[in-house]
Amino acid sequence: MLVLVVNCGSSSLKYQVREVVAVPDVEPQPYTSTMPALDENVPLEVATRGEVGGEVLASGLVENIGGPGIRDHTQALELLAERLEEELAGRTIDAAGHRVVHGGERFSAPVLVNNEIIREIERLAPLAPLHNPAAVLGLRAVQRTWPHLPQVCVFDTAFHRTMPEHVWRYAIPEDMYTRYGIRRYGFHGTSHDYVTGQAAQFLGVARDQFAAVVAHLGNGASVTAIKDGRSYDTSMGYTPLAGLVMGTRSGDLDPSVVTAIMRRDPAADPETLDAMLNKESGLKAIAGDHDMRAVQEAADAGDERAELALEMAAYRLAKYVGGYHVAVGGTQALVFTAGIGENAAPFRRRVCERLGALGITVDDDANAVRSPEVRRISAPGSAVEVLVVPTDEERAIAEATAALVDRRRSR
Ligand code: ADP
Repeated sequence: MLVLVVNCGSSSLKYQVREVVAVPDVEPQPYTSTMPALDENVPLEVATRGEVGGEVLASGLVENIGGPGIRDHTQALELLAERLEEELAGRTIDAAGHRVVHGGERFSAPVLVNNEIIREIERLAPLAPLHNPAAVLGLRAVQRTWPHLPQVCVFDTAFHRTMPEHVWRYAIPEDMYTRYGIRRYGFHGTSHDYVTGQAAQFLGVARDQFAAVVAHLGNGASVTAIKDGRSYDTSMGYTPLAGLVMGTRSGDLDPSVVTAIMRRDPAADPETLDAMLNKESGLKAIAGDHDMRAVQEAADAGDERAELALEMAAYRLAKYVGGYHVAVGGTQALVFTAGIGENAAPFRRRVCERLGALGITVDDDANAVRSPEVRRISAPGSAVEVLVVPTDEERAIAEATAALVDRRRSR
């Protein structure tokens, strides 16, 4: 099955075409949750997962949508359709899978798209004002270009729907939750889910008995506590601003910092503060650069600000790992993934050096290896396995899409 994987931004569209070679013979697991769905009348779809692989046949980026060259997402899709006709040499797409940032409380797994689903994603826009409207534009544009193409949405938040209520609630007045949906959602779910599966398989542990701590460290970064193979806690919250020190995001902060700045600086409105905390903070604020490679190079050359930034980021992460080790009742594995997690060996070492109390020891030679494969970097006597697992969100989206479309066909 040829699956077009779409990741829509407000002015860009990233795509991949994947050949999904086999469909998993996996019975869907019924979803259970301790939390109420906002709309109890709508049945939650269920996820399937399995080994279906996927070769990339085409990939690219359409930029500057809304600029002088490309009017809107529909025109971007027309352009893409032309490109694909050439790149796929006449083969046609069988389904489209969309990355959608926010699934709110409604979506706990990938879903087949219909108009009601699109409206629901639109309705969740207040929770992801930049991302969800862009995803809707992409969904409608695909619908216009290929009216009969089955479409699937895969949500960044869905994997974290298994978090228990004492984890996802904020200790603030209840009507903030009931009126505005203010609670912890968590993000990077597609990656955390995929990487968890890969790690369990590598270690030969049954997924539903797997306890792990997964650190997805890219420009945005989050760490997830995995208990019984599912998300039990995660460092991002109502938005992706919470948790770790990231490239340009502050991560955890005393909320009074925000109100204090607002009182002192008359120019500090919500937009300015949002921009400061999301775009001008993190490594960038401390080291002067958001990019891990540049920060590491500067630290190696003796730059104290860069060294401080790395210590802050490593300390914050180690603190989460320690906490999550307790949360999952003793973790079997610490798993690193995404740009920094997969490539920044010195940063992995820096984090693990702080985890001696958990009995974690790293093998420096194994840590130095660069490879696209799943690998172990812990030393033989380490009390916790430390792994590097390359993430592949597009593959996960393509697999989920193929599985749902295939299930619909076989009904
Ligand atoms: P995004 O969240 O944008 O998908 P990525 O997962 O691509 O981000 O991760 C980007 C981060 O990975 C950057 O901080 C970058 O410096 C870091 N990175 C990529 N390659 C290396 C490397 N070889 N060594 C250290 N850091 C790296």
